[in-house]
Amino acid sequence: MTEEEIVTYRKRLLELRKVLQGDASNLADQALRRETGPHLPMHMADLGTDTFDQEFALGLLQNEEAEIREIDEALERISDGSFGHCESCSHPIPASRLEAIPYARLCMQCKQKEEEEARHR
Ligand SMILES: [Zn+2]
Repeated sequence: MTEEEIVTYRKRLLELRKVLQGDASNLADQALRRETGPHLPMHMADLGTDTFDQEFALGLLQNEEAEIREIDEALERISDGSFGHCESCSHPIPASRLEAIPYARLCMQCKQKEEEEARHR
């Protein structure tokens, strides 16, 4: 991987992180506001919707926090020079995969193997 490619991926990761972080804090605000809001729902229907929205927001939040962690780890790998190599077999991860998921840790084969093992666990 060239210096130029590294710079591009680094920039993309930082941008993605910024977007996710903005979203995550919005979602956290929403979820917290609902929890501590002064208006108690009057009807069971309202209660249901509120609970659903809150769970939905918190679920998204967890995904985004996990994604931000992955991005941070990818940025660390850029610093230590291991970025773009599969963590399992250490072969280079194809550019097409990094284009889609710039924080990918595994090559396609190892990712599939990991998913397969997770299914059989
Ligand atoms: Zn691999």
